Amino acid sequence: MNVEIMRTYTYRVAWLYDQGKKIHKEAAMVKLFTAETLQGILSSAMPIHGGYGYMMEYPIQRFRWDGRLFTITEGTSEIQRLIIARELDL
Ligand SMILES: Cc1cc2nc3c(=O)[nH]c(=O)nc-3n(C[C@H](O)[C@H](O)[C@H](O)COP(=O)(O)OP(=O)(O)OC[C@H]3O[C@@H](n4cnc5c(N)ncnc54)[C@H](O)[C@@H]3O)c2cc1C
Repeated sequence: MNVEIMRTYTYRVAWLYDQGKKIHKEAAMVKLFTAETLQGILSSAMPIHGGYGYMMEYPIQRFRWDGRLFTITEGTSEIQRLIIARELDL
């Protein structure tokens, strides 16, 4: 469900951009939402695989590690929150 929500939300913001709308707030929101939601998805995915989910020999631990990058690159989650707050005049 979260993957579908993230995909739909991303397409919507991309569509707004294509319409020539100002999307500073929406872009920060979708980046923050998808990066943070991914953490929950990966956190749940690891134990589904039991002990293998933690082992270096299997890709799931790598996904868990690499997925953390989305909260750091292209603007950290904290910076996305700052952008959203600024756009809301908070
Ligand atoms: C070798 C390397 C390569 C990289 N390559 C890329 C790349 O190709 N593309 C890319 O997009 N990113 C890349 N990054 C990530 C990116 O450049 C920065 O690491 C990222 O923007 C965070 O900045 P910083 O490391 O200076 O941390 P800092 O700015 O020092 O932040 C440290 C922590 O404090 C928080 N923070 C900072 N300022 C505030 C504030 N005002 N309010 C609240 N919290 C705050 C940050 O969110 C973070 O959690 C790379 C990083 C490294 C180390």
